[in-house]
Amino acid sequence: MRTTVRLSLILVASLLLVWPASPASAQGLVLTPPVAGGVARGFDDVGRFEAGHRGVDLRGSPGETVRSAAVGVVQFAGLVAGVPTVSVDHGNGWRTTYQPVVAAVAKGDRVDAGQPLGMLTSGHCSAGCLHWGLTDGTRYADPLSFLAAPPVRLVPHGTQPAPPPRIAEATLPAARLGGLPVAGRSSSPFGMRRHPITGVWKLHDGTDIAAPCGTPIVAPSAGTVTRAYYNPAYGWRVFLDHGGGLVTAYNHLPSVSVAVGQRIEAGGRIGAVGTTGLSTGCHLHWMAWRGGRLVDPLTLGG
Ligand SMILES: [Zn+2]
Ligand SMILES: [Zn+2]
Repeated sequence: MRTTVRLSLILVASLLLVWPASPASAQGLVLTPPVAGGVARGFDDVGRFEAGHRGVDLRGSPGETVRSAAVGVVQFAGLVAGVPTVSVDHGNGWRTTYQPVVAAVAKGDRVDAGQPLGMLTSGHCSAGCLHWGLTDGTRYADPLSFLAAPPVRLVPHGTQPAPPPRIAEATLPAARLGGLPVAGRSSSPFGMRRHPITGVWKLHDGTDIAAPCGTPIVAPSAGTVTRAYYNPAYGWRVFLDHGGGLVTAYNHLPSVSVAVGQRIEAGGRIGAVGTTGLSTGCHLHWMAWRGGRLVDPLTLGG
């Protein structure tokens, strides 16, 4: 009897043995939780063709915002076997998946860590939860192993949890522009030149495209209007943020016809060629920045 009690106590103690999950590597993938709720069901490290829970369930209420766990590009937003699903490609061969989530993003959108992906809906757990997965298309990994502060887990004594795979940090592909914003000829390239009006030798901080005033200017790739205002030198100008650190600007417009916050699809109209501000004639002065650094927009073509 005494022995049985002692054995039971040892068994209970072993089951409660606490082990810290391996901390996320400083160089490798680091994820942030997509919802604030705790773990409702953990990850089963099972073989490819074995049954098991290939993700983790995090508690959450229908209607709650689900956020991207890392920077990436939306790879899928739609139904998978009837379940609303969003997946984000992290540029390292791995993607995170979120179910059941009604998408607020579209395939191809660039997302930052913490950026809303959509709204959690009911269907996975009776009490409400997000099923969160991490896969390279063949293998599955426990996303909790890649949190900056992984939760402490209880495992039965003697169980050797498989170490998480090495996964490189999440990255965005370099943003590209799809084409020219105006059909016209390049009349003055980006680079050092003598200013045509002031005569001063200085950097020409964009590329000029000559075209008749009124010629439509279209977005060379999708973006969001971040600034639209008048400047004495640049005239009426519009800035487009394309995501991924790529920003473009359109100067000397006759007026501004878009609003800050407005989304413009690739090929959508930004405005028209004009000659407002310090300008010698009808042309588009087209500017671009990558990661905050001024670059020649013609080097960003797809
Ligand atoms: Zn699940
Ligand atoms: Zn110019």
